Amino acid sequence: MQQYAIYVHIPFCKSRCGYCVFSSCTNYQLCGQYFNKLFQEIEQQPVVPNSEISTVFVGGGTPTSVPGEMLEKLFLLLHNKFDLSTATEITVECNPESATVEMLATLKKCGVNRISFGLQSVNDSTLARVGRAHNFRQFLTALRNAQAVGFDNVNADLIVGLPESQEDFFHTVETVCQLPLSHVSLYSLELHEQAPIYKLCTTDFAFSDDQLADMYDYAMDKLQQAGFVRYEVSNFAKNGKQCKHNVNYWMEGRYYGFGASAHCFVQNVRKSNVFSIVDYISKPNVVEAQEVISLQEEASEFVMLSLRLAQGFSLEEFQRRFGLNFFQQFPQSAKLLEGGFLQHQDGRIFVPSSKFYVLNSILAELL
Ligand code: SF4
Repeated sequence: MQQYAIYVHIPFCKSRCGYCVFSSCTNYQLCGQYFNKLFQEIEQQPVVPNSEISTVFVGGGTPTSVPGEMLEKLFLLLHNKFDLSTATEITVECNPESATVEMLATLKKCGVNRISFGLQSVNDSTLARVGRAHNFRQFLTALRNAQAVGFDNVNADLIVGLPESQEDFFHTVETVCQLPLSHVSLYSLELHEQAPIYKLCTTDFAFSDDQLADMYDYAMDKLQQAGFVRYEVSNFAKNGKQCKHNVNYWMEGRYYGFGASAHCFVQNVRKSNVFSIVDYISKPNVVEAQEVISLQEEASEFVMLSLRLAQGFSLEEFQRRFGLNFFQQFPQSAKLLEGGFLQHQDGRIFVPSSKFYVLNSILAELL
């Protein structure tokens, strides 16, 4: 039985963060039209025979900023269209200001069992500087609400490189380590030149690569001391609560994707939807790009993605999925193994975590 994940994009946000690169908008008047189109897209999706759903991820945007009834309808449709009884992880992204007890109870009723909060920093001055719609106190309330409703699998996203001092970042890490979270994602700030905080981040708060590496190392040490295991370059989990949905991506698994900017990989075809919300609503065909992925391409992508995981990949699985011998397919692996940039142990190939900081160079050499 082939496993499929489902991603649904809800692009609405109360305000726009100064670094946002996602398909998002603050015009809630488009909400009704957007959901109509989204429901239509889901209804029209053919279900792959002999497949089952492993995970669902509703992201954005801020899914919890739309009326609860919209999310209830969405989950009802997903439950009717796909059999979600096999989905062991159903995540919804929340921003703290919209994670009320009522909203979280609605999600719980819909079968959601994992909450992912966009926290980014615990420092109110940083949050205000980057245009986040919440403060730290609101996050603590949201976290308490999630616990009260019964969620025991809760993630917080953090960003390294925001316009704040190194000490502010260290304070965020130390504070987060004390919180009842099962998962932390630690992303690097990615800025495009048009971003409202671009100037601030390249002048008053510009960090050198060495400083950023120090900050990342500091976070890694503190999180590990607090019981979080780094299972992927940017992701840390406690008690085995890795994000199964993302692990599926990194293992080059299959997924349906719905909504503006969503991607899907169904059988051997990858598609991406239009980025613009207005285009998504108005265009009869929302697919912007589509490509058939050859087995050879898939093998390279599998290696590229799974080497982001601390456990890498199994040579036996590589052979079984692609009918190829890894060492013959990627002859540069010999040199990388010799240099300690790759490791071969217990039938698996992986990048030692001490070399994650040069992962991109390793992949460039290998592929
Ligand atoms: S919450 Fe996320 S999607 Fe919404 S504006 Fe901020 S960065 Fe963009």
